Amino acid sequence: MTKGIVSGVVSNMVTLRVDGPVLQGEICYITTGGDRLMAEVIKVVGSDVYVQVFESTRGLKVGSVAEFTGHQLEIQLGPGMLSKNYDGLQNDLDKMEGVFLRRGQYTEPLDTERLWDFEPIVKAGDRVEGSAWLGKVEENHQPLKIMAPFGMEGTAVVKSIAPAGQYKVHDTIAVLTTEDGRDIEVDMVQHWPVKFAMTNYKEKPRPFKLLETGVRTIDTFNPIVEGGTGFIPGPFGTGKTVLQHAISKQAEADIVIIAACGERANEVVEIFTEFPELVDPHTGRKLMERTIIIANTSNMPVAAREASVYTAMTMAEYYRSMGLRVLLMADSTSRWAQALREMSNRMEELPGPDAFPMDLGALVANFYGRAGYVYLNNGEVGSVTFLGTVSPAGGNLKEPVTENTKKVARCFYALEQDRADKKRYPAVNPIDSYSKYLEYPEFAEYIKGHINEEWIPKVLNLKTRMQRGKEIAEQINILGDDGVPVEYHVTFWKSEIIDFVILQQDAFDEIDAVTPLERQEEILDLVTAICDKEDYEFATFEEVVAYFKKMINLCKQMNYSAYKSEQYYDYKKQVEAMI
Ligand code: ADP
Ligand code: MG
Repeated sequence: MTKGIVSGVVSNMVTLRVDGPVLQGEICYITTGGDRLMAEVIKVVGSDVYVQVFESTRGLKVGSVAEFTGHQLEIQLGPGMLSKNYDGLQNDLDKMEGVFLRRGQYTEPLDTERLWDFEPIVKAGDRVEGSAWLGKVEENHQPLKIMAPFGMEGTAVVKSIAPAGQYKVHDTIAVLTTEDGRDIEVDMVQHWPVKFAMTNYKEKPRPFKLLETGVRTIDTFNPIVEGGTGFIPGPFGTGKTVLQHAISKQAEADIVIIAACGERANEVVEIFTEFPELVDPHTGRKLMERTIIIANTSNMPVAAREASVYTAMTMAEYYRSMGLRVLLMADSTSRWAQALREMSNRMEELPGPDAFPMDLGALVANFYGRAGYVYLNNGEVGSVTFLGTVSPAGGNLKEPVTENTKKVARCFYALEQDRADKKRYPAVNPIDSYSKYLEYPEFAEYIKGHINEEWIPKVLNLKTRMQRGKEIAEQINILGDDGVPVEYHVTFWKSEIIDFVILQQDAFDEIDAVTPLERQEEILDLVTAICDKEDYEFATFEEVVAYFKKMINLCKQMNYSAYKSEQYYDYKKQVEAMI
């Protein structure tokens, strides 16, 4: 292996003089005063190599020795990751005292002693390709697959496969004979370089399957789909965390991965304390059983912060290869972009807008592009749905991270300070937010088959009414209540009905917090009936206000009543009688 000698140190950037070939992105370890520091190659000029050290370089001496590993930043993938807390380099944070690692300390990401109940899927003589499912184990009620090596080229013949029984992750569970006659021993652990998308699937069609979240402003108004992408910009205190928790708990996903990249340390601690408390409404068990948290705080060195979102995405792709539905959330991608900026600036690269790297757009697009709904080689399906928050400085949505994200993410949930101040939760702005999936013919086809033909036209009708309501509210503001015709008030209050009854939802009420799709259909129909009625006869605007306030109250009572309970039908009847 190549060796290097430290010739210069600037903060986390270290230059090395090397004695052999190195790869761009290769990992090396620098030995200094008893510590081994992990670093990644970011630039190679002849025998001068620039590396980014993943932790503090305090006390690092010129002349220290570095050993190269021959591989890029990669993680280990296998049974035993669920319910774990890792940092961006896959160190197991539960093995630490406190959240932070000592310098030069790296931990084993998987439990190498634990026994897993393995069951074979293939038999000797079968021909398999890379990522083929060789066997299965169960972890926290999730059916996991043990796969042929992801990087395997061509096909191989199964020479032997372990019988059902208990094995450790590094036990050999299969021997495969490759096309060129080599035997490879396969255990339960895969290695994958985090910055490269896994393409071990046959096809990635445009995603089309509604991903039910139980949050009305998403499912009804701006639906996300399985394998889709979305982003949530929002100033502090507007409800990002509450929304993220609601989606994590309720969305129809098998595995939830949270990348807490570089938010303030106390926010990361908050994730560690709050997430384990969340209960999975589908099973009544702890949500954490099928969750992985990847956490870095902004006081961790920049390269480690940059790695965390990639590590999270790679884990998501791993579970997708098993035919599972993965929900990946990153909070916040702005911190990731800031890490990219710091690194690029230290490299003295020519800066792009706001000093972000010139290729920020490509980096963001590549990352979002790894999400998706896929047909695996064996005909099964799997998905990675990605939702990222952005925290634009000063709420400025015109800054480069937000702009570049907007180009690639298909859903946009704009959390708004003004709505949060008015306690209209979730504070997702109904006018600025969107879901591009509403325009996809594949999605329309799916909705037709699974909900009904009227759903999308009804949603679009209500969206138009929200826009109209906003315009009228501005006119009333200028001209006064009596300065506009009574019908204007009716139009405005119709948009308030939509807002109060569909969009606003109390995350802390046991019933209102989750609205199943069937129930959302009923609400949509009811609100549409109220809005489409044209022959309201009001003499004064006070009558309009009184009527709609009463209506809103009844509908809200309905939202707070158990679905299809006596109470629910009682309120519903009262509403229908008023239309
Ligand atoms: P952020 O993570 O953006 O800083 P939080 O998610 O912590 O903000 O939300 C701040 C507060 O707003 C919450 O503590 C809660 O009181 C209120 N809130 C947010 N969303 C909702 C909701 N859907 N229903 C009720 N209250 C909410
Ligand atoms: Mg928060």
